[in-house]
Amino acid sequence: MQCPYCGHHDSRVIDSREVNDGIRRRRQCLSCESRFTTYERLQPASLFVIKKDNRREEFNRAKLLTGLRKACEKRPLPAGIIDKLADDIEAALYQLGKAEIPSTTIGDLVMEKLKSLDHIAYIRFASVYREFADITMLKQVVDSLVTGESELPPQAGQLSLLTPEELAGVTKIRNKRSPK
Ligand SMILES: [Zn+2]
Repeated sequence: MQCPYCGHHDSRVIDSREVNDGIRRRRQCLSCESRFTTYERLQPASLFVIKKDNRREEFNRAKLLTGLRKACEKRPLPAGIIDKLADDIEAALYQLGKAEIPSTTIGDLVMEKLKSLDHIAYIRFASVYREFADITMLKQVVDSLVTGESELPPQAGQLSLLTPEELAGVTKIRNKRSPK
């Protein structure tokens, strides 16, 4: 580790501690005695995504973020939550320990995360990812959310999933196909 002040190649570690997903080391140059900090971060091997047409593409975090941002657009979510979501999904993918992952695995993971975060974002993502052909498919997803919710009340600390207006909108969709 080269000293950023004098360029000397030897330093001693005076403190090291784990931070988030790496190790932070406080170092002191053995020549000029300046102190500086280094971060060690695990660099995973590259991960490839197998697309529906069987082509391989290197995993692209920016692309994942774009998809998440689109689904969560204008939703009342806390700042930073989308980046955190991308972090979680990325970490989960690397934890699978595989060099290649089907794109459906990523899509399913995103669905799972969005479902517990925000139902509107979930439906938006699902409609693109599952390529809803018509309102029937959308209705099925909405119905599964509504019935799931009545069985399982939201856990303490979970974000409120639907505002009353949105709930009304969902109900409208549900009733659209059933004649009065
Ligand atoms: Zn130095």
